[in-house]
Amino acid sequence: MERGARGLLVCSVVLVACGGSETFSVHDTAIVVRTNAPFAQSADLPVRVESTISAALSYWGGNWDDLRGLTIALESERHVPCHGVPGAVGCYEGREMQVSTSETATRPWRCVEQTVLVHEIGHAVIGDSNHTDPRWMDFGAVAARLQGRRGYGPVADEPCDLFPSVWQHVRGTR
Ligand SMILES: [Zn+2]
Repeated sequence: MERGARGLLVCSVVLVACGGSETFSVHDTAIVVRTNAPFAQSADLPVRVESTISAALSYWGGNWDDLRGLTIALESERHVPCHGVPGAVGCYEGREMQVSTSETATRPWRCVEQTVLVHEIGHAVIGDSNHTDPRWMDFGAVAARLQGRRGYGPVADEPCDLFPSVWQHVRGTR
């Protein structure tokens, strides 16, 4: 998968005023933005989502066809409802995926790369809801590929530091 300028060409942005959410598509995957996290308001969000998912797909041995028809919602709340799992920060179920954009109850992540998106992409590619694959506890290759990017705070840029522990399988993450 080419990166950089090529990413701009494959991301068609369609802004839909619908209950305060915006929707755009990356390849044939719909991205719904239901958060006011500064990174999600940035013009580079489609390119960042595309390249983050591309890195995750490479890690999991998948490709964009695995995500065709999927809807990914970026949610403002710290926890998302997921099969009754308390404290879930992400969820994948069939053709819908939810990803929290909050690090804490009061602090959003500074970039989409920090969220559990790369974890949830794994479920879309390999399933494995019980997290038996050893790759759930690694993610070093993804961090190496995505580190050093620009992050966004409430008033100014902040580092987009990556923490593989966020992506690894932990209690409450699906
Ligand atoms: Zn999981």
